[in-house]
Amino acid sequence: MSAATKHTASPKVDLDATRDRLLRLGLEFAAEHLEAQISATVKEPVAPHRFLDSVLDEEIERREERRIRTALRTSGLPSGMTLSTFDFAFQPSIERGRIETLGTCSWIREHHTLLLQGPPGVGKTHLAVALGRKAIENGFSVVFFRLDELLAALKRDADVPPARLRRRRYNNVALVIVDEVGFEPMSRLEASLFFRLVSYRYGRGSLLITTNKGIRDWPEILAGDEVLATAILDRLLHRSHVLNIKGRSYRLRDLERAMEAQS
Ligand code: ADP
Ligand code: MG
Repeated sequence: MSAATKHTASPKVDLDATRDRLLRLGLEFAAEHLEAQISATVKEPVAPHRFLDSVLDEEIERREERRIRTALRTSGLPSGMTLSTFDFAFQPSIERGRIETLGTCSWIREHHTLLLQGPPGVGKTHLAVALGRKAIENGFSVVFFRLDELLAALKRDADVPPARLRRRRYNNVALVIVDEVGFEPMSRLEASLFFRLVSYRYGRGSLLITTNKGIRDWPEILAGDEVLATAILDRLLHRSHVLNIKGRSYRLRDLERAMEAQS
């Protein structure tokens, strides 16, 4: 065997062994791309530490992409609503800077609550979803519920013992988003289960609530129970950010345009 063939044959064997080692360490992307990375360095030689760095970098980047994909899927967040697709010019009552600050997620790190209030169509759900995405990108666990879905889950779990309840996603993720609070009043049972959730999460994790109702209307949402409403609001508002969105409905925008065109 000539020196040249020996030279091309042996790295092949070594490569398989190296790939196996990478796999044993759980570095599957590095293993998968090892050959391509090596070919690239053969074509364009780089310092050994740069080669190692780029192999590890690829692993980290791909893992991060996979983590975000999986977290988005399990969060239940609807797709397509991001901060970059939000038209801030359409809704001047929303300060872009404030939303961008919320997008850094320091409020989630500090277990604060975010309340998005406003009439239908002003972008509450869109912003809630976009901030949920940001939270996932920043490494937080997130779950998204419409209020009726959340209440159904809470009712299903009404008799679950506390130790198991703690492991429920609505209790143990960093951010729970509850969309559409206030459209339907809650029953007494629902209101008290909702109180249990808010109390449990208080100081432990964040809640993001969207609602079409003002604070004054909360007793009405909560089965007319003033005492319960006060207890819930007390916890929700203690460390909170409240955004009042005033403005036109984005849903009606096209209708308005059509009507303007006719007149
Ligand atoms: P709300 O929850 O306040 O009723 P949504 O967030 O569901 O309103 O908004 C209704 C629809 O309009 C959604 O499809 C949303 O993506 C879109 N939308 C609302 N506001 C904006 C905006 N400022 N820029 C882009 N899309 C918007
Ligand atoms: Mg909505």
